Amino acid sequence: MPVNVLFSAPPALWSEYEDPLGRALSEAGIDATLSTDLPAEDVDYIVYAPNDHMSDFTPFTRARAVLSLWAGVEGIVGNDTITMPLTRMVDPGLTQGMIDWVTGHALRHHLDIDYFLANQSGAWKPKVPPLATDRPVTVLGLGELGAACAQALAGLGFPVTGWSRSPKSIDGITCLHGDDGLAKALSSAQILVLLLPRTPQTEDLLDAEALNLLPRGAVILNPGRGPLIVDDALLSALDRGAVAHATLDVFRVEPLPADHPYWAHPQVTVTPHIASETRPASASRVIADNIRRAEAGEPLLHLVDRARGY
Ligand code: NDP
Repeated sequence: MPVNVLFSAPPALWSEYEDPLGRALSEAGIDATLSTDLPAEDVDYIVYAPNDHMSDFTPFTRARAVLSLWAGVEGIVGNDTITMPLTRMVDPGLTQGMIDWVTGHALRHHLDIDYFLANQSGAWKPKVPPLATDRPVTVLGLGELGAACAQALAGLGFPVTGWSRSPKSIDGITCLHGDDGLAKALSSAQILVLLLPRTPQTEDLLDAEALNLLPRGAVILNPGRGPLIVDDALLSALDRGAVAHATLDVFRVEPLPADHPYWAHPQVTVTPHIASETRPASASRVIADNIRRAEAGEPLLHLVDRARGY
């Protein structure tokens, strides 16, 4: 059966997705009309990223799914007009990019690369870093991205603890959950990686009390979401030396305002929400596969649980 697929996303994305998504749909054996402009009542599937043109899904009376281009769905999970199934992006390209960012920034701090960059002065000042096996790392969030990063870090030799909502068992990772688990996970974290979604339960998780549980001189990497951290509490911990450095990719307000204290803070590294990008070629195959599944009556992959909020 031919299907109509509406691409509803910021306009700049259409040029990136039109060809790969068309190709992926055809390779998946789907006879699809793919367009940014279709009568609402004729739309079968909506490929979606938050945009200025569409937030009311009520007119899409026969749409069988909304397929998010992004992994984080906090911007749409509470949209009551989405009454059809909602999926989020799980993309091998996205996962690999996150592994690259997390391991790269973890190794920067582990090897104290900044020290050697700052001391290339002709003075021979050896400073030998510990082995990775002596540097405990904690990853908060053991989903698609957190688990992959935890395993990559463990593969480099770091002792890795992970924390999630539900109990988990992952080879080579000490898996914790619940409030007690969080306290334990934080108390050993010389490097802390945040890969939690933004939900009412995770917002402000890293407040002054939680930051106080970290070993003195810990380093924080946040590619998760800005609101996971209470900014004033982090700035205070950095100023006291309780936290040695924070490498932040995500913020409460993006773009991060030019006068935000993070920009000028010597112990903060800002990256502009580039930790990992959805890659059009691989993401298109994920979307096409889900449409194929829906057409074949198979369960959709990567369904968002509205009650959990992610
Ligand atoms: P998943 O949904 O696969 O995983 C989320 C993890 O967080 C799960 O392990 C989940 O636990 C855990 N979690 C959620 N709520 C809680 C809670 N209240 N307490 C403890 N653990 C909790 O998400 P992904 O791994 O795919 O992505 C994670 C986040 O990364 C995204 O939501 C997004 O915010 C961010 N992201 C950032 C990007 C960037 O470029 N900076 C790019 C892509 C994503 P459980 O397993 O028990 O459900």
